[in-house]
Amino acid sequence: MATAGKVIKCKAAVAWEAGKPLSIEEVEVAPPQAMEVRVKILYTALCHTDVYFWEAKGQTPVFPRILGHEAGGIVESVGEGVTELVPGDHVLPVFTGECKDCAHCKSEESNLCDLLRINVDRGVMIGDGQSRFTINGKEIFHFVGTSTFSEYTVIHVGCLAKINPEAPLDKVCVLSCGISTGLGATLNVAKPKKGSTVAIFGLGAVGLAAMEGAKMAGASRIIGVDLNPEKYEQAKKFGCTDFVNPKDHTKPVQEVLVEMTNGGVDRAVECTGNVNAMISAFECVHDGWGVAVLVGVPHKEAVFKTHPMNFLNERTLKGTFFGNYKPRTDLPEVVEMFMRKELDLEKFITHSVPFSQINTAFDLMLKGEGLRCVMRMNE
Ligand code: NAD
Ligand code: ZN
Repeated sequence: MATAGKVIKCKAAVAWEAGKPLSIEEVEVAPPQAMEVRVKILYTALCHTDVYFWEAKGQTPVFPRILGHEAGGIVESVGEGVTELVPGDHVLPVFTGECKDCAHCKSEESNLCDLLRINVDRGVMIGDGQSRFTINGKEIFHFVGTSTFSEYTVIHVGCLAKINPEAPLDKVCVLSCGISTGLGATLNVAKPKKGSTVAIFGLGAVGLAAMEGAKMAGASRIIGVDLNPEKYEQAKKFGCTDFVNPKDHTKPVQEVLVEMTNGGVDRAVECTGNVNAMISAFECVHDGWGVAVLVGVPHKEAVFKTHPMNFLNERTLKGTFFGNYKPRTDLPEVVEMFMRKELDLEKFITHSVPFSQINTAFDLMLKGEGLRCVMRMNE
């Protein structure tokens, strides 16, 4: 490739300050260093995690920064030591990596790579502690090792899943975070039995993907919980059989769910990021066998509080990043589920805009409208 080894100038959406609209700037993207890959991003979507770190209300502010982690692209060039990927390969970046070498990567039970697990406060590459993005020499920080709100970005090879080149990147880009996370949270972690009752807290894209997982597992009753009453209509397409809005009740929502289900739900999956919803999700599961899984990214200072008796009564609380999928090993197979039409992604993509309109995607997420907004980089 003519650009290999050279600095590439391209457009990126830069967050200069917390909560201020992103601005499209010309950035310089340095060539990939050892074990790194430069990727041409074709499509990127917005996940609520990007919004939390842009608002930086309950998170560490790291600015100026290029956010974005849900995307699909093509390898432009590779750095020294990269043998698994070549220019032209189709890839999905993942915010948590897989080095394939550490104790976690070697364990069947974990996807929390020692080297490349999510780090929300680091704004530089792990190899040399530097950023690959500059504007007139001024360093711009990375975000969770992906920074996909840029036409080109540099990513550690361990944070890239090589996928089937026939898979349409404008659709499968949403598997790079939210949809795989929700799906895996149910299928790999909550593991509901056929005929069981599952509660899903938060009916955004992540929660509805968790719901899709519950439907696939054969759950017979799926209760959606959300503060936004408009979320129910959409959720019905994902198998939602009952809807509870905590605002419609004077008692805590966990009590409402326990009453509705004669003792509690078999499984609960929390996809809100709100600590009270996390507590409710745990306290609404049935004693003896109930399992609750936390997925939402909490406020930095959040504290989870519950009575220990809730555990003694044989309830289980778990949490997960990326639905426990190992990004490089497992994500290509999730893409194949889509290719075999076992997983519909189109219903998650409610909006699509040119990259220049990225702030529209933020507005939609803040208003709670739609699920995923895919941005087209080449427009
Ligand atoms: P979203 O904003 O589209 O959806 C969140 C939904 O939760 C909204 O519909 C909102 O109305 C609802 N909600 C908020 N507070 C609530 C409460 N107290 N009770 C009930 N409902 C409530 O967001 P999303 O993109 O679907 O992401 C969901 C969460 O998952 C976020 O916290 C995000 O950061 C997190 N996330 C985690 C991982 C992971 O690997 N663990 C990966 C991706 C996203
Ligand atoms: Zn590892």
